Amino acid sequence: MKVIVDQDKCVGSGQCVLTAERVFDQREEDGIVELLDPEPPAEAAADVRLAASLCPALAIRIEDATA
Ligand code: SF4
Repeated sequence: MKVIVDQDKCVGSGQCVLTAERVFDQREEDGIVELLDPEPPAEAAADVRLAASLCPALAIRIEDATA
C-alpha cells in the first residue's frame, strides 16, 4: 500500500491522525497533514483506509500495489 496526501486540499481536521497516528501527523503551526509513513505495513492498512474514508477534504489517496 502506498499513501499520498494532498496538503493543498487538507483542512487540518485531524481525523487521519486520530485514526492512524503512526502514519499521519499534523504540522504544529497550522494543523496541515504530514505523512509519516508513505508505505505503511499491512497491519496499518485498515486504519489508513478508514482515515482516507473519513477525511472531509478527500486529501488522502491510497494506491495498492496489487491493484
Ligand atoms: S483527515 Fe484529511 S483534512 Fe483532516 S488533517 Fe487528515 S488529511 Fe487533513
